[in-house]
Amino acid sequence: MYFESPTTKSEATKNPTSKMIQHTSKLPNVGTTIFTVMSQLAAKENAINLSQGFPNFPSDPKLIEMVQQALRENYNQYAPMPGAMILREAIAEKMEYLYQKKYCPETEVVVTVGATEAIYTIISAFVRPNDEVIIFTPAYDCYAPAVEVHGGKVVPIQLKGKEFEMDWNEVRSKINSKTKLMIINTPHNPSGTVLSKADMLELASILENTNIILLSDEVYEHIVFDGEKHQSAALFPKLAERTFITASFGKTFHNTGWRIGYCVAPKELMNEFKKVHQFNVFSVHHPTQIAIGKYLKIPENYLQLPAFFQEKRDFFLNAIKDSRFTWKPSQGTYFQVLSYEHITDELDTEFAKRLTREHKIASIPLSVFNTNKEDHKLLRFCFAKTEKTLADAAEILNKV
Ligand code: PMP
Ligand code: GLN
Repeated sequence: MYFESPTTKSEATKNPTSKMIQHTSKLPNVGTTIFTVMSQLAAKENAINLSQGFPNFPSDPKLIEMVQQALRENYNQYAPMPGAMILREAIAEKMEYLYQKKYCPETEVVVTVGATEAIYTIISAFVRPNDEVIIFTPAYDCYAPAVEVHGGKVVPIQLKGKEFEMDWNEVRSKINSKTKLMIINTPHNPSGTVLSKADMLELASILENTNIILLSDEVYEHIVFDGEKHQSAALFPKLAERTFITASFGKTFHNTGWRIGYCVAPKELMNEFKKVHQFNVFSVHHPTQIAIGKYLKIPENYLQLPAFFQEKRDFFLNAIKDSRFTWKPSQGTYFQVLSYEHITDELDTEFAKRLTREHKIASIPLSVFNTNKEDHKLLRFCFAKTEKTLADAAEILNKV
């Protein structure tokens, strides 16, 4: 899952004369995330950075003013442990409005430090040594280390080929009495594919009569294109009863640096979640929660996102239509995968670095997220950028 070759032993273990304390890494195979590696390389090379997923345009000034107001109104002490009530209520209202599923703001909604904390906390609260956790690769890179640090075993299922097809028979075959958790992600990072209603129904039938908990990572729930509807686990009662849904305001409201996300789940599951959350972070930045709570109550603030990002996707793809890259348009997320199979047979990790150094454009190679680093000659480009940046990027890509 990582780009740099990891250290297998600590420095101290390698060098016995060192005064460093002897220890054995709990995560010997973990290096620095590809997002950090590529963003750093982009900065060093002064390249256009379409690698790490973050917008280069500002958050709504109204939302920023709301945060300033909350600071002035002195929301500057600890927020309640599960989150400011105004935000929990707004989340519950949104879940009911979009997915007709009621979550109790008192007991079934928790505000977290981004989706990352929510994901880590779910895994920490439920996964014991030797428990199995099914993940689908290419997988977002925070899942596996969180499982491994708790002694769990990652059971990867590779989505097939360049179209990232799901093989539900393989899923059935990988489930056994040790399977504790399954992690799905729709819309999917890095592929830009989405799960269909038929997929979700199939999943519900597979999980029925098991005790498997589902973690449904839905951070891109508001970024689905071409008139399709996001198939939240909340829409399927048989899934919702066993599911934690995780989400990210950083992705929804263009402020990934604020680190505010949330998760929802049935009360019994959420009780266990809170036991870990309260001793991990206790509670999340208070003034930002108050502001997002007010902002989220206005549905237009998220309902306009599909059109907003689809325009960017289409602008970008139209601008590179004469390039030698090929693609299937992204169905969701703000990422577009491009194939370079007609350009070179270099490894994707090598080509991504060379594009950054020589052509001054940074992307993310997909193989780092795959089982056994399968390389399909695919790179991921983030199109959450201004038109100017996308036009400049396209000019470069057209010359490659
Ligand atoms: N899951 C996926 C699929 C992501 O792409 C990201 C990154 N935004 C996260 C989780 C983490 O989200 P956050 O930045 O809110 O921690
Ligand atoms: N989610 C972002 C991406 O996929 C990265 C977030 C991070 O760097 N931790 O690019």
